Amino acid sequence: AKAAGGNRYEVADPEADARAITRHGLTTALPAALERGEFFIEYQPLVDLGDGTVHGAEALVRWSHPQHGTISPDRFIPLAEHTGLIVPLGRWVLDESARQARLWQEERGGPAPLRVNVNLSPCQLQHPRLVADTVEILERTGLPPGALCLEVTESALIGADEDLLKPLRRLAEMGVDIALDDFGTGYSNLANLRRLPVSVLKLDRAFTRGMQQFPADPVDLKIVEGIVALAHSLDLAVTVEGVETSAQADQLRELGCDTAQGWYYARPGPAARVRELALVDAVT
Ligand code: C2E
Ligand code: CA
Ligand code: CA
Ligand code: CA
Repeated sequence: AKAAGGNRYEVADPEADARAITRHGLTTALPAALERGEFFIEYQPLVDLGDGTVHGAEALVRWSHPQHGTISPDRFIPLAEHTGLIVPLGRWVLDESARQARLWQEERGGPAPLRVNVNLSPCQLQHPRLVADTVEILERTGLPPGALCLEVTESALIGADEDLLKPLRRLAEMGVDIALDDFGTGYSNLANLRRLPVSVLKLDRAFTRGMQQFPADPVDLKIVEGIVALAHSLDLAVTVEGVETSAQADQLRELGCDTAQGWYYARPGPAARVRELALVDAVT
């Protein structure tokens, strides 16, 4: 904030202002923020690379701070994980996203109902009520389990033992999809994939970034080609993140990726926007 004459203060650059709050300040403000309803969700469309239609969206949480404006999840999720607030916050995100996806299903009346992807932090994964809470939310909102995909990062599942996998397995049996998020960043043993109850691989943006230059790095292309082949041989669908150009989209389609997400199609935004995009024949 900068002084704007007298003792009036004006925010010159909201981002700079938000950066000025200390981690401690943010951390202590989190519980009250949840209680006051300062969090909101933006949805980023998931696009079928084959025909360009929107078949779902990822829920991405933001904090609308009364003084500091919108704060991105990269800044407060780690703090919420540290204090354990991620459990009630994550439950709220799931509840809100399920309610929204249910609304999309009612409104659309199209051939395939829109689905929603929700991020799950490692703390939530270890929480004893994960399955019970998820079942309760699906029942109360009326969202079919098949319309929900939970995203778990590859690093959260590295070296996971059966105790950690059991709740995920239970959810998968109910029909909930499990996606392995940020895939390719965690050096996981590829052979291990078979043992995980996942049905989707989300290729990290690091791979799509390598395709931004033209011509794309041939080694990057080979790696993605290999991952796609492996994923498909294990019956996993491949989603790519961070698609920013039509050239990337073309390349990833050629490499056999199934679903894409990125600014080329749409930035994260309000739920109504997803619905609008789902009603057009192809997003691009
Ligand atoms: P993520 O799960 O890997 O989500 C994808 C991030 O990439 C999002 O950042 C999204 O806005 C951004 N993105 C999408 N397309 C593009 C693109 O074409 N180019 C670029 N440069 N970026 C793109 P966002 O929304 O800031 O979220 C950051 C991270 O915060 C997420 O990464 C996720 O790890 C975490 N997060 C967000 N919402 C939740 C939540 O409800 N629960 C938990 N546990 N984590 C969340
Ligand atoms: Ca994600
Ligand atoms: Ca990701
Ligand atoms: Ca990421």
